[in-house]
Amino acid sequence: MKQNYAIIGLGRFGGSICRSLVESGQEVLVIDSNEDRVNEYMNIATHAVVGNAQDEMTLRSLGIRNFDHVIVAIGEDIQASILVTLMLKEMGVPNVLAKAQNEYHARVLEKIGADKVVHSERDMGVRIAHNLVSKNILEFIELSDEFSLAEIRVTNARFFNRTLIELNFRQKYGLTVVAIRRGNGKVVVSPDATEVVQEYDNLLVIGTAEDVDMLDEKINK
Ligand code: ATP
Repeated sequence: MKQNYAIIGLGRFGGSICRSLVESGQEVLVIDSNEDRVNEYMNIATHAVVGNAQDEMTLRSLGIRNFDHVIVAIGEDIQASILVTLMLKEMGVPNVLAKAQNEYHARVLEKIGADKVVHSERDMGVRIAHNLVSKNILEFIELSDEFSLAEIRVTNARFFNRTLIELNFRQKYGLTVVAIRRGNGKVVVSPDATEVVQEYDNLLVIGTAEDVDMLDEKINK
């Protein structure tokens, strides 16, 4: 499922969200007032534009109101971040995610209608990108440069009522199942190979981000 994403501000936060979304096959428009930053992302993002997002005409001419998700990744200029978030909500963007510099900034962003407010850094950006792309990746935490921990909801009946050994996640996807969270809230930590995957289970897996994304695709078809 492809959705539209626009990112305003290409600092570390906006930049890492952009990379993660592009890696997951999403189309991403990036906007920054700094030309050097935009040039850096010219070959990464689907579209990269130099512009001041505080200018309503700029936002309108980019058709920003047609985007499903807009990420306001302006940090230092709190006034700009607030004004841009406000304009986006007034224009009817359904999902506006904004980065807050501090608690006061976060409170204002929430008050003016931001759908999600985050206090962020690079790892947070990666995590959010995964949560945005997949409804079934409930949690995504980078453990190291290589490995991540993800909680994935199993919605494909093909995986139900089969043991972990039959499903063979390690061989097929390079993933280790470290726990199963059952529909009733019970958690089976370090499950045996004979543990049966059931409907409403969430799997907690460790592997590379690519492996997690691959399983996510298969497990939810
Ligand atoms: P990070 O903490 O994510 O690394 P940063 O501290 O490097 O961010 P910020 O000042 O938070 O940088 O701004 C992030 C980006 O937003 C910068 O590249 C900046 O040029 C851009 N930016 C700031 N104001 C606007 C604006 N009004 N329109 C477009 N881009 C803007």
